[in-house]
Order: sequence, then C-alpha cells, then structure tokens
Amino acid sequence: MKPAPFSYVRPTRLDDVVGELEEAESAGSGKVIAGGQSLLPVLAMRLGRPRTLVDITRVPELAGLREEGGSIRIGAAVRQRQVEREAAQRIPLVGHALPWIGHREIRSRGTVCGSLAHADPSAELPAVALCLGAVLTVTGSRGSREVPAADFFTGAMSTVLGGTELVTAVRFPAPRAGEGFGFGEMARRHGDFALAGAAARVRLDGGGVVEAQLVGFGVADRARSQDFTGPLAEAVSRHGQDEKALTAVMTEAVSEMAEDVVTAGDAHASQDYRRRLIRVLGTRALVRACADSRRRAKR
Ligand SMILES: Cc1cc2nc3c(=O)[nH]c(=O)nc-3n(C[C@H](O)[C@H](O)[C@H](O)COP(=O)(O)OP(=O)(O)OC[C@H]3O[C@@H](n4cnc5c(N)ncnc54)[C@H](O)[C@@H]3O)c2cc1C
Repeated sequence: MKPAPFSYVRPTRLDDVVGELEEAESAGSGKVIAGGQSLLPVLAMRLGRPRTLVDITRVPELAGLREEGGSIRIGAAVRQRQVEREAAQRIPLVGHALPWIGHREIRSRGTVCGSLAHADPSAELPAVALCLGAVLTVTGSRGSREVPAADFFTGAMSTVLGGTELVTAVRFPAPRAGEGFGFGEMARRHGDFALAGAAARVRLDGGGVVEAQLVGFGVADRARSQDFTGPLAEAVSRHGQDEKALTAVMTEAVSEMAEDVVTAGDAHASQDYRRRLIRVLGTRALVRACADSRRRAKR
C-alpha cells in the first residue's frame, strides 16, 4: 500500500515549525516527521492520513547534544546513533538500551525524541526516560513547558502533546554519586521490538541502598515504574554482595510487580510468559544495578 497524498515542508526555524503545524491543523491535520522510522510505516499502512508532514531535521535549534546543568540535553533532531556514539558513557542507562533498538541503520535515522513522542509501550527509550526521571521540553504557539517523563506518557502511542506541539528536547540526568544501572530485554530476534524488558536504577550510600527504581516495558499500555528501595535495602543489608542470595530474595519481591502485568497476549507471548519475563529480567536488572553501583564507586 502507498501513503495517502500529503504535502511536505522542511522549515529551518523553530518558529516556522510551530507556524506550519498551526496552519496544517487548521487545514486538516499535520504531523511532525523526524527520522520517519515509525511514521512512514504508519502512513504506508494508511493507519494515519495527515495532510502535511513538517520535517524538523533541518532546524539548527533542535540539533544540539550537550551537557546542561547536570543533565545531557538531546535536541529533537538528534539521531539515536549519535547519542550511542557520543553520549553512551555519560548517560549509561541510555547507552545500555540503545543497541537494543532495531538495527544500526534504523538508529542512524530514528531520533531519541521521536521515540519518546511515538510512545510505543514496547520501546526502550520511554522506559529509560521514566527510570532516570528525564524531563521533556514541549513547545507550541503558547511557548514551552517542561514535562517530566512520568507525566508525559498517557497510554499506548499516546502522550500529553497537543496537536500543534512538538518535543524540542529531552534532558537525561547524568549519574549521581553511588548510582548504578541495569537493563535487559527479551525479543524474538535481534532488532525486533521487545516482548518485555526492564530498566533499573539503584543508588547506594555507604554500602546501603537508598534508592531503587525498576521500570518494566512491553507489559502494559505504557512502561510501568515501581519503587523497590525497601525490599532491596533489606536484601542487601542481609546478604551483602552475594548475588545468588540477592537474586532469590528479589525474585520474590519482583513477582508482585509481575502479577500486575496485564496484556491481552498475542501470537508471540502470552500474559503468563510476559509475567515470567518481568520477574526474571526485573530481578536481574536490579541486581546488576547494585553491582554496577559498587563498580563505579571503585573507579
Ligand atoms: C524495523 C524496525 C525496527 C524497530 N525496532 C525498534 C525497537 O526495537 N525499539 C524501539 O523503540 N523502536 C524501534 N523502531 C522504531 C524506531 O526506533 C523509531 O526511530 C522511533 O520509534 C521513532 O523515531 P523517529 O525519529 O523515526 O520518529 P518518526 O517516525 O519521524 O515519528 C514517529 C512519531 O512521533 C512523532 N514525532 C517525532 N518526533 C517528534 C517530536 N520531536 N515532537 C513531536 N512528535 C514527534 C511523529 O509525528 C510520529 O507520530 C523500529 C523501527 C523499524 C523500522
């Protein structure tokens, strides 16, 4: 199938992007296009029929990848591959997740902000943004607002973005002292979307756990976050660095989160299988994040 007819504009100023989106909205509907890796299949299958596509990749204001006040700020035109090459060390959880997204060719075109705006429940970056407490900058004709990732996603492929707004940047906090990270997912083949996955962030202070956050994705209409500070702190105080014992105790704790997994099931995985995945991947991610925190402290 071919896309329905549309017009295409490629402004070079942010004001003009917003102006084009406003004009497109009043004439029917407009859509931002960034890397096109999710939007083009949608158009080709005629699941969407925007009258105008507004390409944002030639706007210099959206191109930056830089440190800003303890965070890494990624502009809306920055491709996933650029972040993988230039910033994976500075935002390690993003660095762990990026190689799991499609193939290198897809990441060479797809943008980080595009993945967040698309809000696929099985996508890695929304889960990572939630786990790290990333903040998105959303811009429209009334100006800009800052939206924490926890408030940005409202459901499957759905966000707080208005029809004439765009994400202009996202800020991921750089690791704080004592922080460590874990990530894992299961997909049928390398490059496929995850059946389920988990991202974890743990902060240790003086050997004790003071923060532990686990995010599961591919298991509901959007990524789900849960605080595991209490159970992990207790497990570490009892078992120290004994990974086998920690895994046994945390599997129990994560089981409760796994019970909350509600999917219709599909041809690739039943609800039950996804629950098992979250139990195993979630536990591993938390235990790895603990070990990662200790490793970083020794550097
Ligand atoms: C074969 C294949 C495998 C893939 N595998 C994975 C995978 O395993 N994991 C994964 O997460 N993704 C996967 N993807 C999707 C890929 O990562 C996309 O790049 C990403 O989801 C969207 O980024 P994009 O820049 O291409 O956005 P586009 O396709 O250009 O846009 C996607 C949607 O977001 C909107 N949008 C884009 N940018 C903005 C913005 N700045 N502000 C507001 N709205 C915006 C568009 O209007 C559109 O609705 C895969 C894609 C393909 C083709």
